[in-house]
Amino acid sequence: REKAEKKKEDSKKQKPLRKTCFVPVFRTTEIQEAREKLPILAEEQTIMETISENPVVILAGETGSGKTTQVPQFLYEAGYAENGRMIGITEPRRVAAVSMAARVSEEMALGTNIVSYQIRFQGNVTDETKIKFMTDGILLKEIQKDFLLLKYSVVIIDEAHERSVYSDILLGLLSRIVHLRKKKDDPLKLIIMSATLRLEDFSENRKLFKEVPPVIKVESRQYPVTIHFNKRTPESYIEEAYKKICKIHRTLPDGGILVFLTGQQEVNHLCRRLRETFPVVKTTVKQSDKEEVESSLLRKTKKKNLKDISNQLIKEAVNLDNYSALPLAEMEGDDPHYNDDSDMESIHEDELDMGTTSFSSLHVLPLYSMLPPQKQRLVFENPPEGSRLCVVATNVAETSLTIPHIRYVIDTGKVKAKVYDKVTGISAFHVTWTSKASANQRAGRAGRIAPGHCYRLYSSALFNDEFPDFSEPDILRRPIDDLVLQMKSIGIDKVLNFPFPTPPDLEQIKGAERLLINLGALEEQRGRGTLKDRKKFEYAARITALGRVMAELPVAPRYAKMLALSEQHDLLPLAVCLVAALAVPEVLLETPLDGNRGSTKQWQAMRRTWAGKGNSLLLGDAMVLLRAIGAADNSPNIVAFCNEHGLRMKAIKEVQSLRSQLIREISLVLPNNPTLFNLKIDPPTDLQAKLLRQILLAGLIDRVAQKVPASEIKESGDKIKMKTAYKLQDMEDPVFLHPSSVLKYELPEFIIYQEVFEASKLFLRGISGIEPEWLPTFAQKLCSFSDPLVATPPRYADGKILCHRNVTYGRSGWTLPTTELEY
Ligand code: ADP
Ligand code: MG
Repeated sequence: REKAEKKKEDSKKQKPLRKTCFVPVFRTTEIQEAREKLPILAEEQTIMETISENPVVILAGETGSGKTTQVPQFLYEAGYAENGRMIGITEPRRVAAVSMAARVSEEMALGTNIVSYQIRFQGNVTDETKIKFMTDGILLKEIQKDFLLLKYSVVIIDEAHERSVYSDILLGLLSRIVHLRKKKDDPLKLIIMSATLRLEDFSENRKLFKEVPPVIKVESRQYPVTIHFNKRTPESYIEEAYKKICKIHRTLPDGGILVFLTGQQEVNHLCRRLRETFPVVKTTVKQSDKEEVESSLLRKTKKKNLKDISNQLIKEAVNLDNYSALPLAEMEGDDPHYNDDSDMESIHEDELDMGTTSFSSLHVLPLYSMLPPQKQRLVFENPPEGSRLCVVATNVAETSLTIPHIRYVIDTGKVKAKVYDKVTGISAFHVTWTSKASANQRAGRAGRIAPGHCYRLYSSALFNDEFPDFSEPDILRRPIDDLVLQMKSIGIDKVLNFPFPTPPDLEQIKGAERLLINLGALEEQRGRGTLKDRKKFEYAARITALGRVMAELPVAPRYAKMLALSEQHDLLPLAVCLVAALAVPEVLLETPLDGNRGSTKQWQAMRRTWAGKGNSLLLGDAMVLLRAIGAADNSPNIVAFCNEHGLRMKAIKEVQSLRSQLIREISLVLPNNPTLFNLKIDPPTDLQAKLLRQILLAGLIDRVAQKVPASEIKESGDKIKMKTAYKLQDMEDPVFLHPSSVLKYELPEFIIYQEVFEASKLFLRGISGIEPEWLPTFAQKLCSFSDPLVATPPRYADGKILCHRNVTYGRSGWTLPTTELEY
């Protein structure tokens, strides 16, 4: 009894304590002062108490409130990194993992040994690491190895609102891991950090969390931001952004500019252009000049007879577009004074004509994920004395990083969205409109230090009609065969029951399981007896040994299957090159980018010769790709080579880096492959070409097409049109070889294709010829076999009984030539 009493006493004593344990951190005064200003610091006690009392906590706060940088420090000080345990933080973006680790390490003055990061292929984690920033993909891999995550005492899923596929899956997994760890009496804390968007997806999802997790909201001080829409949406948003920056810099008061573009190349391009326009010159501009212009602007703006905009407001912003601060309804009217661009142009013209004198220099900095960390860090520094900061960024600056000194945001409204390429399984990027929620996040970046302005380079009508409220979670935007395979490799057999924050639909899951079973990555479980028993095994296929290897490779399962198969016969170097080339879109140009069609014929002739002869010719478009890459490898001047042969330079570079990436990964899975590291390839021999076709078939098992027979062509009467017509399994109408295919003269009876796409008609792209006899072997799962044929009795050879059978392929049942098969 005494013991029990004492325990009770102890626990009573512990509870109200602010920190169960205090691990001191010695920060510099400067850092400490900066921290004190962050809204989250005032909430430290509430946050830490809630965490100590609850297994799962949701922490929501506007970007910049200090979540990412401060919460790990609170946890560290409260002793969560003691006893050999770590504090883990996942980020959907690499750039955030790297820069946040650096920042926290700097704030705590503990060094990178203690505060480290890990992203794919890169990291500085040591045995001493106590706070570990990583990408969400990294933690998912760790779960595959150590399901209970015993190294961690806390896991923080940061930026959960971004709804990256891996973060979503991690949440599903962690909801269970937290439970298991509790049962083991070794609790794991889960903290979900997010901007204040759609929190219900996590908190109100009973499948995910049986008990409603507490939600802590951190309020942050935000100054008002005036939104200015363009009247018309310009054709080139980059050009428009450029003009807008020039105007702001030449006419508006101090304050940094932040521009949102979609990708690295755009960012670099605009930075270069801005630096040309505003070369860094150390001239001091007379204050009186500036005043003169400001007052002249003021006069002009007044001339425009703006109704109720006070002088105060104009003075504050000296902002020519200010009238769009009027309510949206008015903006859309036919008010001639409205923020029309041509109108603005006329107001601005003379300012722009004043020459190139700028009031101060423009300190232009790029910011995107792939930028080296030391360059990324520059955006946090004060711009040089007397200059204006201008950060040209991708949407990494939307929520993951908070840039100080920003007063003007220029929002192109565009975002490069990751679109999963259904053909190759490798993600591609498309530029689309962003969501209303993102646009508002972007605008918010302008109100961190003072009232700010956000210039939206699109019309308000477009914003209202075309922008979705939120971006869809990634998981709904792509096929999920790769994900299903990852989950099965963790041992989640019944994907249907998995507690997804937003579940994919049943068709998506069904399709993925079917494909994976056909590829041999999964094995169906058969339920016998009652309906209930059978239901139990529906969509509960288990991973096979082949599936495990495939799960380790960083390409979609179809392509992983090709790589896994090609390990035999020394085919890996060729297969890696082929898979990489198939994965990058438009390696081969059809017509010159400059519109001059002169070289098209030459290119086609060249590709015919690249296709090779005889057997290897049937490797078709894949062979051309292989040769193109091989020849580019060996060429002394790659730019000239690409121009001459119609290769897209950027695509070739992408293929190269994808190849190196694949090689690095494969060397981990299949360590005994010395040939792999030779990046240069020779053209395949005829035998290799044949094997490569079989390998392609093994991955494209369900993408087989058969030539429309001559008799049917006769009937249709249009011989020329029907010459290149093929039939697919599940499609009534014929599809056609794309005219760019080198196989359009050969027209093999059976082909495999990479993709069907719609243009003037339905075309097949990425075609290779195959032999129908291969189907029973390489697409066995899609074939059905007759009983042994009586006409030709079985025979015994090589210790096997062989017999002739009729084979049909696919659902619509194509009859293939009778084949002799093992009985
Ligand atoms: P949240 O995660 O809530 O969006 P952060 O913790 O990322 O907020 O940021 C808190 C503050 O720390 C911001 O004001 C930001 O400007 C500042 N900060 C972040 N990284 C750095 C850095 N490398 N150098 C200077 N300040 C930084
Ligand atoms: Mg953050």
